[in-house]
Amino acid sequence: MRTTTAYRADAPGADLRPTTIERRELRAGDIAVRITHCGVCHTDLHALRSTDSSAFPVVPGHEFVGVVSEIGSDVDTVAIGDPVAVGNIVDSCGECPMCRAGQQNYCDSFPTLTYGGADPETGDRTMGAYSAEYVVRADFAYPLPAGLDPAGVAPLMCAGATVWEPLRHWQTGPGKRVGIIGLGGLGHLAVKFAAALGAEVTVFTTSSAKEQDARSLGAEAVVVSTDAEAMRSARGSLDLIIDTVSADHDLGPYLRTLALDGTLCHLGDLGPVGVDTMDLLIGRKSLSSSGSAGLPATREMLDFCGEHGITADVEVLPSAQVMTALDRLAKGDVRYRFVLDMSDL
Ligand SMILES: [Zn+2]
Ligand SMILES: [Zn+2]
Repeated sequence: MRTTTAYRADAPGADLRPTTIERRELRAGDIAVRITHCGVCHTDLHALRSTDSSAFPVVPGHEFVGVVSEIGSDVDTVAIGDPVAVGNIVDSCGECPMCRAGQQNYCDSFPTLTYGGADPETGDRTMGAYSAEYVVRADFAYPLPAGLDPAGVAPLMCAGATVWEPLRHWQTGPGKRVGIIGLGGLGHLAVKFAAALGAEVTVFTTSSAKEQDARSLGAEAVVVSTDAEAMRSARGSLDLIIDTVSADHDLGPYLRTLALDGTLCHLGDLGPVGVDTMDLLIGRKSLSSSGSAGLPATREMLDFCGEHGITADVEVLPSAQVMTALDRLAKGDVRYRFVLDMSDL
């Protein structure tokens, strides 16, 4: 085992504190990455707020960039010194129908998560990237697109990939009318991507204060979702809705804003939802879901961001302020993603 420094919480409710943790020694296909920046995702907050003591200790962090510091004997795709980015999946079986379809995110054996997962060989719990170094299979590290700010790339690896895959699956492009529910870490990237792909973008938000922001990110229309009259006026106006809101909410009013054959794709885990099937029947509408992204879609997203100069809007904090970042994220006080600068570790 090798060791590195990381922010770890040892029990439910405990603060993250810098400590020494173990990483595996490099396998033939592995690389070691010296982490420069790691995004702060809502998942990190959920993990730390879990009341399940068996899920601890936790080192969060699953969207990061860094520099290759060591390579395994079989690695020829990257070299020491190359900048790379890593997301929330660090391994998968590679053989099941999902993996063969390039959907490692839906691997039948469950993909290995960047933290809180199980190492495929040892079963050891994976520890995330609020850390100075990470050891990862080279196949799950992506070259950093040239010319992009590394801090702004880190959130692309979870938030960005998660919205990119469904936008592409439903052929977002010129002539498509796309609605985005929620203007947070995921939503702001969904707006940028959909606009850059050529779609006509509408943002649904509970806060009229976000209207100007939504427009400057690329939205042509903003609907305040608590305004019943505004929601009624939007009926039948959209081909695709990407729903980034993880809190429980009624999908009916949004389904009614879809046009014929429109799809509402919710991201993440809402649990059981009650949907009036008449909201689907009228207009032959679809309700779908999506989570994370496979290797090909993630690669494609990074290429697209490189070509179009797209990064996340971030507030960078020294990693020592990780608890401040988490507290402010919990209050929704960030536009639109915190990124920890790991150079102080
Ligand atoms: Zn995430
Ligand atoms: Zn698989």
